[in-house]
Amino acid sequence: MIKDFLKKFGWNYIPGFALMIVCSWIQTRAPLALGKAVELAVQRDADAFFPAALSILYIALGVFVTRFGWRWFVVRTSREMEVFLRDRLYTHLINLPVGFYSTARSGDLMAYAINDVGSVRMLFGMVFAQFVNSVSSLIFSVSEMSAGIHPRLTLFALLPLPAALVIVLLLGRIVRLRAKKAQEMFSLLSGHVQENINGMRVLKAFAQEKPQYKEYEKESLEKLGANKRWYYAAAWMDPLIKTVFGVSYAVGLIYGGRLVMDGVIALRDYIAFNSYLTMVTTPIITIGRVNNNLQKGLASYRRLKLLMDEPTESEFDLNDDGGPLGKDIEVKDLTFRYAIGTRDALRNISFTLKPGKMLGIVGPTGSGKSTVLSLLLKLFRTQRGMLFIGGQDINDVPAERIRKCVGYVPQDGFLFDESIEENVRFFSNADTDEVRSALETAGMKGDLERMPEGLETRCGERGNHLSGGQRQRVALARALVRKPDILLLDDTLSAVDNVTEKQILENLKDRLRNLSCIVISHRLSAVEHADEIIVLDDSACVERGTHEELLKINGLYAKMYRLQQKGDKSA
Ligand code: ADP
Repeated sequence: MIKDFLKKFGWNYIPGFALMIVCSWIQTRAPLALGKAVELAVQRDADAFFPAALSILYIALGVFVTRFGWRWFVVRTSREMEVFLRDRLYTHLINLPVGFYSTARSGDLMAYAINDVGSVRMLFGMVFAQFVNSVSSLIFSVSEMSAGIHPRLTLFALLPLPAALVIVLLLGRIVRLRAKKAQEMFSLLSGHVQENINGMRVLKAFAQEKPQYKEYEKESLEKLGANKRWYYAAAWMDPLIKTVFGVSYAVGLIYGGRLVMDGVIALRDYIAFNSYLTMVTTPIITIGRVNNNLQKGLASYRRLKLLMDEPTESEFDLNDDGGPLGKDIEVKDLTFRYAIGTRDALRNISFTLKPGKMLGIVGPTGSGKSTVLSLLLKLFRTQRGMLFIGGQDINDVPAERIRKCVGYVPQDGFLFDESIEENVRFFSNADTDEVRSALETAGMKGDLERMPEGLETRCGERGNHLSGGQRQRVALARALVRKPDILLLDDTLSAVDNVTEKQILENLKDRLRNLSCIVISHRLSAVEHADEIIVLDDSACVERGTHEELLKINGLYAKMYRLQQKGDKSA
């Protein structure tokens, strides 16, 4: 991904770094000008003094222009990089299969990704810049000191500095590791607090406040310990480095002073030299910071790459012929498990469904009903030869094409905080009449009439302004308005009362004439009129037939039916 970016924007770094080097060079002129001005002032040479002092101003101006220039090229480019990465990341994320999002790892990766983009941007902006800046000003200063002033003085004064570099890098690493540990402790602690707050009812109901508090106290003390260890290491950093620099300054001052007294170097060089020494020490501290950000940026980059390397759905679909998809569904001996090492979620399921027909799937919770629909939607990969839509193996059809012709209504149809009309239309080009008619089919007519704002009623966050049953019906209308070839209802009417459910099923009849429909339902009344009902138990199909046939078999279905009837009567 970086390669594409560099191809497009990489050229910006050339003028950027060139200006940066020029900027460093101009900066290293300042000590010379300072030395000269001081010397002239001491000599009371007013005529020569003013132009010499003014040159400091020119230097400042030069630094201003070149620094602005490199920042413009480098920092702007790093912002471009951020946008570029975010775009790439976003398109990648929406193309990842649903299976990816159900793994535990995905949450972590996503949470990091947002921050990671920022760190990678830093890497390609300020981290590069600080590095080039530090190295070039180090080179210019040292060469000016040794070639222009006095090589031996330079050598002696710089001798302690490698020790500072070692401290910055080694101690810096220790500080970094301890900071990370402290941060981890903090996440752990706040995670537990969050969990306890969310589960407060359970916590109180089981009288677990005290043990939980003890646990909290223990973690809190551990966090304090981690923080102390971090601050302790960090506290050493500054004094140690300052001491090393102090030795350097002392050598420069004493040995340099001696050389001035002996008439070996001029006063201006003596002043310039000491000024250079401060210029040399700054990059050493910067290098520590560069190293920190470099490590962070590289770790971020590796994590982003991991995410970007996850295969997207379109890569699964290689043999698409682009033709229209039929409405027939054929499931042959479908066996499926979610992950290696887990038990089968479905075992040897077979059925066929023609347009105009309805298939009901019933069974206890966890028996595999929803899995059938997830697989038809291609949310997970299945083996070839098991699932066919319109005669085509779904492995040969892009997921997007399947989802375009399938209307899927989950039990908890997600609504956005927009109007009912917008939620039903949801990126389709249905007009208001079509939206209204879909809502009527879905049994919302009476509800809409009772709402003062009708179609304009806002649904609230996650649809929480509507009742569960209303949310389900709006979600059903959303599927209907797209005129799907295949309609999949996953316990869609579970929160709707019996009478409304009957009405909706009656309304749907007309629309169902031309499409294939699978209805999963907890409540058997929703599938009573289906052309075929399959009963799943423990991942396998245990009974199948029409409502009447199943009652005759007098097995699981008949048992569930009797139980529900009893429940209805007592309700
Ligand atoms: P039902 O719809 O009949 O309640 P499901 O199809 O949701 O049943 O689940 C069937 C089995 O598959 C269950 O044992 C469930 O725990 C498992 N399962 C469902 N979804 C996933 C998933 N995303 N990852 C792993 N296992 C799953």
